[in-house]
Amino acid sequence: MKRHNHSTVRRSFALLHKMDSSFFSYVIASGILQASVSFLPMIVLSQVINRILEQRDFQSIMFFAFAGALGIWILSMLQALVEKAVNVRSQNISYSFETLVSRTTMSMEYAQMESKETKMMQGQIKADRSWGSGFFGVTSKTQQIVQQLTGIIAAIIILVPFLIESVAKSNWYLFLAILLMLALSVVCALLFDLFYSKREFSEMREMTLTENNSRFHSMTEGSRIISYQDIKDILIYRATSLIGPSVEAENEKIRCHALKLSKLNFIGGLIKGGSSGFLLGLSYCMAAFCVFVEKIAAGYIVQYAQAMYQLSIGVSSFLQIITELRVDTDRLVSTLDYLAIDKPQSAVNRIKPNTAEKNTMGKIEFRDVSFSYPGSNHPAIEGLNFIIDAGRKTAIVGLNGSGKTTLIKLLCRLYRPDQGTILLDGVDIWDYDEVIYRNMLAVVFQDFSLFSFPIGCVIASSEDYNANRVEDALERVGMGAWLQSQGRGLDSILYKEYEKDGVEISGGEAQKIAIARAIYKDAALVILDEPTAALDPQAEYEIYTRLADLIGSKGVIYISHRLTSCRFCDDIIVMDNGHVAERGKHSQLLDQNELYAKMWDAQAQYYRMQ
Ligand code: ADP
Repeated sequence: MKRHNHSTVRRSFALLHKMDSSFFSYVIASGILQASVSFLPMIVLSQVINRILEQRDFQSIMFFAFAGALGIWILSMLQALVEKAVNVRSQNISYSFETLVSRTTMSMEYAQMESKETKMMQGQIKADRSWGSGFFGVTSKTQQIVQQLTGIIAAIIILVPFLIESVAKSNWYLFLAILLMLALSVVCALLFDLFYSKREFSEMREMTLTENNSRFHSMTEGSRIISYQDIKDILIYRATSLIGPSVEAENEKIRCHALKLSKLNFIGGLIKGGSSGFLLGLSYCMAAFCVFVEKIAAGYIVQYAQAMYQLSIGVSSFLQIITELRVDTDRLVSTLDYLAIDKPQSAVNRIKPNTAEKNTMGKIEFRDVSFSYPGSNHPAIEGLNFIIDAGRKTAIVGLNGSGKTTLIKLLCRLYRPDQGTILLDGVDIWDYDEVIYRNMLAVVFQDFSLFSFPIGCVIASSEDYNANRVEDALERVGMGAWLQSQGRGLDSILYKEYEKDGVEISGGEAQKIAIARAIYKDAALVILDEPTAALDPQAEYEIYTRLADLIGSKGVIYISHRLTSCRFCDDIIVMDNGHVAERGKHSQLLDQNELYAKMWDAQAQYYRMQ
């Protein structure tokens, strides 16, 4: 194994132990019981045969056979019990692992989430789950390794007295026979590694890459589907002829990998089955030969043949499982890297904003800030310099793609600037405690998400909420009547995705609920990024005119390309191509007759034409 494999195996075993400290004890107990269950029948049988050959009396033979059968039955029952405990523990470990993965995902930096490597790692974890490989394979392989090891130890315990006796008599047949069997089992394991494990590993990696790069398929619980959001556009634009061949090509690639994997599995099964049958036959011949040469009771043939077989197949299977484990641990490297992805640095930095207790924010300064998205060579924001009073109402306007949303994402610490600093009251925003800093912001993103929970929980983002405040927030955004019409009130669950009695809402209603969520948060600064794009004119008008009423005395940063909604703001920043092009009040900007005035004229003309 390569060096990194050792440390990966150690790390994965440490992870297993952390998730369930009793797992290994149960696995060892299960291995010992399984070895006993597989050997005891052979020992009983060989003793019964020997007693028959010695012509012992019927009653004593039957008594021995009955006692043996009872012992086998008790051990089998115990084994079933311990096996069940192992299975339950394996399941729990899988769930704990899934929980760990989702917690890691939720605590990771936003920019990290967007990176191609993170997406690839997530794709591999999904594939590992459906194939039972990676971490999911390590759990089962650990069981198999322990089973094979206990089988090998039991076989040695049975063979040692026989071996000592034959060596003492200077008969080396048994010794040589065991050596030969071991050599053959190592050859079988090498063949398995060469023709199966190595190829399987590279094929699985290729297949994961294909799945991850697949454009129209998403892996969902092992099935590949075209998402339902795509269907309406496929139908309306008759995109079947565009997408169909592409989907089929993707299917074909995946089919080829699957076919290669099934061929490999056949070869693996052939080597495994062939070597096991061959070793079993050989062990009987060897045991018969040794028993004949040593001139001991014939019944021992069964016992020694089983021990020799178990020893050789145990060694072979052990080596095979180790090579399979290597495949899992190789796949596990990226999973463990995923779990170890750096958490946001704020855990170390614990500066509390001065104004946090008063639930207000002071001055926000963008000082020479530049930023390009990962993988892009065009800066979305370049050399941005301005100071805003976070307690006032500021509008940020500009054409599409001018950098307004990027600016907000930087302010929310979703990305770090490539250059320059964003300061709140003179301190770099990244030096503040993350939780306290984010608590001061309530943002309605353009592509906000509402979660499928009872509406009260959705608004409060918590199971504990103040019902009066939730109702008030909904009332303020004009959703009071909607709430009244819901039979289950604040317990009504959003969306039918997980709940058949769930409530479906329109895009505009969703936007109002997202604004209500921001109002409920009662944060120092409310940021609304195109908050009315999906609203009808009436609702839009109400939101604009009642903005002060909605947000109260809090500061607002308001992004919109609809200038009528911004003219009531204290301060308007006009963005153009990642820069601040102009700044001032509505009347000042109109007087300047630059970009803002042009945009205003264009929109005013549009309204006049109506
Ligand atoms: P606005 O909000 O003013 O419409 P954005 O801030 O969203 O503009 O975008 C500014 C620039 O950054 C645009 O050129 C856009 O294409 C680019 N951009 C936005 N989001 C991403 C992203 N996730 N990855 C790469 N480029 C992006």
